[in-house]
Amino acid sequence: MAKRDYYEILGVGRNATKEELKKAYRQMAMKYHPDRNPGDKEAEEKFKEAAEAYEVLSDDTKRANYDRFGHDGVKGGFSSGGFTDINDIFSHFSDIFGGSSIFDDFFGGGTSRQRRRRTRGTPGADLRVNLKLTLEEIATGTTKKIKLRKQVKCDACNGSGAEAGTSMNTCPVCNGAGELKQISRSIFGQFVNITTCHNCNGEGTVIGTPCRKCRGEGRYPDEVTITVDVPAGVQDESYMTLRGQGNAGKRGGEPGSIIVVFEQLKHKHFTREDDDVIYNLFITYPQAVLGAEVEVPTLTGKAMLKIEPGTQSGKLLKMKGKGIRHLHSPGTGDQIVKVNIAVPNKVNSQEKELLRKLSEMPNIKGSSKAEEKSFFKKFGL
Ligand SMILES: [Zn+2]
Ligand SMILES: [Zn+2]
Repeated sequence: MAKRDYYEILGVGRNATKEELKKAYRQMAMKYHPDRNPGDKEAEEKFKEAAEAYEVLSDDTKRANYDRFGHDGVKGGFSSGGFTDINDIFSHFSDIFGGSSIFDDFFGGGTSRQRRRRTRGTPGADLRVNLKLTLEEIATGTTKKIKLRKQVKCDACNGSGAEAGTSMNTCPVCNGAGELKQISRSIFGQFVNITTCHNCNGEGTVIGTPCRKCRGEGRYPDEVTITVDVPAGVQDESYMTLRGQGNAGKRGGEPGSIIVVFEQLKHKHFTREDDDVIYNLFITYPQAVLGAEVEVPTLTGKAMLKIEPGTQSGKLLKMKGKGIRHLHSPGTGDQIVKVNIAVPNKVNSQEKELLRKLSEMPNIKGSSKAEEKSFFKKFGL
């Protein structure tokens, strides 16, 4: 049977650009896709014909030969002597069908022709790193450098595992396909069972001469320093994933991730409650009664805090914006100062005398009752 003109098959002019060719081929492929035309031999032939035409015209050299010499110019020029298997067409034009192919999108995915995506090498493992942080660092965010040992991509062979200057050999077991096909027949028809090639691990190539630096692994262990940008407001035991910074994959495989787990260190002054920090302040009885200006620590240094006259023990004072910056929203938490009345451990005789006198004064005497009243009022009793 005489072959049809490739341009005619795709329905494009002889000066068609690559984009126009691609578009035309896509349209043809969609129209004659076997899933849309089940059992239609003619459609299948048209589908293969379009694939063949596109293979030639999308390749500059082949196209030039075809333009000059016609079909004779590209005879035997096909990668596998023309396409016999639909799956070959898919794998051949991975730029058009690759990844989430237009057919998967078009036909709702899950078709019987779904292909295994060929991956290089073996993925690298994830690494877990613990990072201790002070409350001050968490409050504002910080940048930390961490030294660690991990598998790094071999620079001598660029991760391929093959000695520089040598080439990869086509896997002799699968002839470079990366997969092995077994055809079985039953009364329901023909089944094609595809398995990953055991010899090349699905890569389709094997190393001829292993790289001396990494012994063919494509990676080797080394000490590296990584930089972690810690955002403000992270929680204790929360983590951050540094994608692609984990162990390098074997022979060009995808690298793993580094999982940085944050550990909040105990603070000598503060406890944390969400994004607020709590500080227990101890003042003297006279300070509570008369009012005072006291110095308190904050996450950003010392600050003065005003104690109003008549401040009760247990009162909570808010120092706005002196807490931890929120992680997921603008704004900052507060510092909550809990007021405690300090009671001296020991007093001398003169102090004792004064305290006794003081305790007989009417406002002092009555203050414990007032306390009681406000306590009951608070609980509605
Ligand atoms: Zn190497
Ligand atoms: Zn193989």
